[in-house]
Amino acid sequence: MAQQTADVIIIGGGITGTSAAYQLALRGVRVTLLEKSYLAAGGTGRTVGLVRQHYSNETTARMALRALQVWRDFDRVVGGDVGWVQTGALFIVGPHDLDGLKANVALQREVGIRVELLDPPAIQALAPYLYVGDIGGAAYEPDSGCADGAMATNAYAQRARDLGASIEQGVEVTAICTEAGRVTGVQTTQGTYSAPVVINAAGPWGARLARMVGFEVPVEVSRHQVAVFQRPADLSMQHPFIGDFIQGFYLRPETGGLTLVGSLEASEAENKADPDRYAETVDMDFNLEMAELTERRVPAMRDAEIRKGWAGLYDVTPDWHPVIGHMPGLEGFICAFGWSGAGFKMAPVTGEMLADLATGERHCPIDPHPFRFERFAEGDLVRGRYAYSIMG
Ligand SMILES: Cc1cc2nc3c(=O)[nH]c(=O)nc-3n(C[C@H](O)[C@H](O)[C@H](O)COP(=O)(O)OP(=O)(O)OC[C@H]3O[C@@H](n4cnc5c(N)ncnc54)[C@H](O)[C@@H]3O)c2cc1C
Repeated sequence: MAQQTADVIIIGGGITGTSAAYQLALRGVRVTLLEKSYLAAGGTGRTVGLVRQHYSNETTARMALRALQVWRDFDRVVGGDVGWVQTGALFIVGPHDLDGLKANVALQREVGIRVELLDPPAIQALAPYLYVGDIGGAAYEPDSGCADGAMATNAYAQRARDLGASIEQGVEVTAICTEAGRVTGVQTTQGTYSAPVVINAAGPWGARLARMVGFEVPVEVSRHQVAVFQRPADLSMQHPFIGDFIQGFYLRPETGGLTLVGSLEASEAENKADPDRYAETVDMDFNLEMAELTERRVPAMRDAEIRKGWAGLYDVTPDWHPVIGHMPGLEGFICAFGWSGAGFKMAPVTGEMLADLATGERHCPIDPHPFRFERFAEGDLVRGRYAYSIMG
């Protein structure tokens, strides 16, 4: 079969891979992206798409803010429609987490995030339908919102193509080729592609690909469900995204009077899954559990109707942060996966970081060093100032 050459090969056509393809093409790099099935077939096509800035770690808070500036103005900055809706985001905690929330809000403000600290009466004024009896306080981000995973991936891919990138679907990478300690390309179901740089952006399949060249990246793949409820007709609220750290779940507004509901509990990662074979629909038990939590927080939702729902995959690392960086001892091999359920919003910045790593240039002001693979062996895990859930 024919051999094709590029400066950089990207494995994976999710939001991470397509954002990197766009950034590289923008810099005039000859880039080929290989996707084994279709764009957004992985975690990206099943995302809830929340773009929040609530982080307890300076690096991720800065990344989230920088990424938000792209999401909210995507058509002008990149080009294309990503289905952006500015919903606002409200994060509520119990009294014992209030000091932690305040510390995180202070950190967020230090990096320039617009966030308000609300007491229970202010929360009630913002969202009169919420039960606030157990709430100590909340952080409210008016600028946060949601975008659509498949639309965003296709928008990035289209812009990358416009700039000369080759985006190939139905091409599965079966081996990573190396010679004398450096990457030379990949073997695929459609022949060999050669390049001095290969980016592994294969999400839940990323660890498997890294293992092909001897790297054991500590990533567990787990199944995460989303319940979909139809809000009652007499409940006219268009609520913001609500992260309820007291009960460990979230509510995300969707068009058509729908609300998407999912868990924020770390124990969700125990639902291990084979990325090639897992139940892609929602379990009725999960629907009922989410309905109970929802009703406790929003009593009027007792009249909501259960609609469809789905399940997708997280690629979870020990510290719930990704691996982004060159892999030691194999020149030209870069990994970018392990986002642990939080990688959608970050993609505009991850793409910049990957283009920097691949070219040796420095355009992104945020250093990906904390996310290096070596941190696991060094015991230098990424930690937040104050954590109340898996949200980082
Ligand atoms: C239910 C759910 C809700 C979520 N909610 C949010 C949220 O609100 N906000 C947020 O920021 N994040 C959220 N996430 C996480 C976010 O969606 C992911 O972190 C992100 O989409 C991962 O993108 P990716 O491109 O790294 O990986 P993926 O989208 O998984 O893409 C990897 C791609 O690689 C391809 N691939 C794999 N192996 C090969 C191979 N050998 N050859 C070629 N191609 C290959 C796959 O087919 C796949 O398309 C959520 C995830 C889920 C599942």
